[in-house]
Amino acid sequence: MHLEDVPEPSLEDVEGGRGVLVKVLRVGVDGTDKEINAAEYGDAPEGFDYLVTGHEGFGEVLEAGPNVPASLRPGTLVVATVRRPGSSPYDRIGLQDSTTDDVYYERGINLLHGYLTERYVEDAAYVVPLPHSLREVGVLLEPLSISEKGLHQAYEIQRRLKIWKPERAAVLGAGTIGLLGTLALRLRGIDVTCFSRRQPPYLNSHLVEELGATYVSSEETSLADTSAEHGPFDLILEATGFSPLAFEAAEVLAKNGVLVLASVTAGDRKAEVPTDRINQGFVLGNKVMVGTVNASRDDFDRGVTDLVRAEVFYPGWLGKVLTTPVDGLKNYEEMLRALTEDEDAIKVFVEV
Ligand code: BGC
Ligand code: ZN
Repeated sequence: MHLEDVPEPSLEDVEGGRGVLVKVLRVGVDGTDKEINAAEYGDAPEGFDYLVTGHEGFGEVLEAGPNVPASLRPGTLVVATVRRPGSSPYDRIGLQDSTTDDVYYERGINLLHGYLTERYVEDAAYVVPLPHSLREVGVLLEPLSISEKGLHQAYEIQRRLKIWKPERAAVLGAGTIGLLGTLALRLRGIDVTCFSRRQPPYLNSHLVEELGATYVSSEETSLADTSAEHGPFDLILEATGFSPLAFEAAEVLAKNGVLVLASVTAGDRKAEVPTDRINQGFVLGNKVMVGTVNASRDDFDRGVTDLVRAEVFYPGWLGKVLTTPVDGLKNYEEMLRALTEDEDAIKVFVEV
């Protein structure tokens, strides 16, 4: 990573008078940025030898084109979504998060510049307004949208069961996605067990408990024993980044349950898996395993609602996830250091 002077964006960069010029306030970073910096993932836009990174944006509208809806005015707080449409049928109905194209376009990740910059311009179709009450925590909307999509997909799938009403859920992983997934499930009145590696107590286990959920360390208890004690789990959200756990989760999932896989695991790990048992459990138990990536605009909107609800039901909780502010773009090296070395950091973000 390095600093680069880039051209000033302009409303005219977007057709049809739908351009929105945004002043960037904060940008969160995550494992994807680590992988981009390590050249393991992502690419620069065509014609560029650099990529402006940052896909967890948060900012304020400076200027809006003549055909921008009234919900986006100068001063409105906004987050722009990440993925842009390609050419599959899903892209054409606004579900580019479920594209079947081989190539996908994601701001700050792949083939499109992102938000770690002072200003950007975007089509109003991809810009989501937030109320002013979310000024301090709105930068969490993009990571929350990932959990929102996972849960919404689960509910959509489970409509097949007519009366499915999850009582107990497990969230695997207590990083940002796991914590925000735990939050979203608690806001829906579900008992949650959050299963993660590190031994409690530490900030993340406290945050889980503040939501009225249970924290279990994999150093102390296996997932099977956790399920025997706190399950069976009607819904499991996997967000650890450790793929063998997906198959342990498949083993303990409740009958009629749904297992949501959300970890982007770029490696080539192999593990021995009890295939007969898992297969039979899925067949005799009518279970579902589903992968989920990115999020639609509707998932962002659901995320806004949940951020507002979180501030009401668990006041101050979201702010505690924002552990590690970095002062300005010029300190990008400190940002990278916090991202790769600081074990106590939950969300690292730049105050642009
Ligand atoms: C982003 C998603 C994106 C995924 C794959 C994640 O870090 O939050 O929006 O779809 O990476 O590139
Ligand atoms: Zn991300």
